[in-house]
Amino acid sequence: MSAVIIDGRAVADLIEEEVRQRVAALVATGAAPPGLEVVLCGDDPASASYVAGKSRASARVGIRSVVHTPPASSSTGELLALVERLDADANVDAILVQLPLPAHVDAARILDAVSPDKDVDGFHPRNLGLLAEGRPRIAPCTPAGCMELLRRHDVPVRGARAVVVGRSVIVGRPMALLLLGADATVTVCHSRTRDLAAVCREADILVAAVGRPALIDASHVKPGACVIDVGMNRVDGRLVGDVDRASVEPVAGWLTPVPRGVGPMTIAMLMRNAVDLAEAHRRAG
Ligand code: NAP
Repeated sequence: MSAVIIDGRAVADLIEEEVRQRVAALVATGAAPPGLEVVLCGDDPASASYVAGKSRASARVGIRSVVHTPPASSSTGELLALVERLDADANVDAILVQLPLPAHVDAARILDAVSPDKDVDGFHPRNLGLLAEGRPRIAPCTPAGCMELLRRHDVPVRGARAVVVGRSVIVGRPMALLLLGADATVTVCHSRTRDLAAVCREADILVAAVGRPALIDASHVKPGACVIDVGMNRVDGRLVGDVDRASVEPVAGWLTPVPRGVGPMTIAMLMRNAVDLAEAHRRAG
């Protein structure tokens, strides 16, 4: 038996089409299209490439996107002033601060300055708090995309044993909360977890969000499990995940590849969050 390879690009295309239709419906009422403002500080090439992908997706679905590029030398105060200005602008529906920010910047202060109702990434403590309470409003894009892949491939989640490897605020923790909200029984692993392979082998759904190429191999996977590979690592100029595909594919029931797995879903969910925020703003007048 060989795993079903989950085509994240195909699902992302479906979601983008749904978003495109919602944007068109909004515009047909005479309302302005959703406005997404992106803050890209510094010259990290990976960040620049992610932002370019987000801008291209915005153009595809009809979202107005503007990218601000303050220099890497910007102070916390200067970035705060930019975010506060965007936040106060009624024409702005959604604000995205591309991470990582330069090391000298107080990233938490910048993220907290984005109002919860413009927080398209779902990183504001209020939005994360609502997620922790089990009533998510705007969920972080990458874990929300993983949930969508499970849903659209009919992977059973209710009552399943789920193991999330990684506990970052942007992926691992919200992933665990979303799985819990969908009635999975969830374990979260991290760098101090003892006998990682044994814990992972208990999983019906295994999510790897670590940033270590090929950390997860067949010895970590229960036969038939669904393995979601969030990792994006550059090895010899090639993009690889956290899962050793060659050894896991014959064991798993489902597997997301890298590339064309979770990556495109992150951007599709960003588009969906942006239109969710815009619709809420238009409803509120
Ligand atoms: P992160 O903030 O560096 O967190 C990594 C997590 O992995 C930490 O919780 C860390 O544990 C844990 N970890 C490290 N080594 C481990 C080990 N040997 N065994 C078990 N756990 C270990 O990374 P992130 O931002 O969550 O991103 C994780 C990966 O996902 C990266 O490859 C990133 O590029 C990728 N990513 C992909 C997308 C996408 O759209 N596909 C989006 C976001 C991120 P401690 O907490 O103990 O340090």
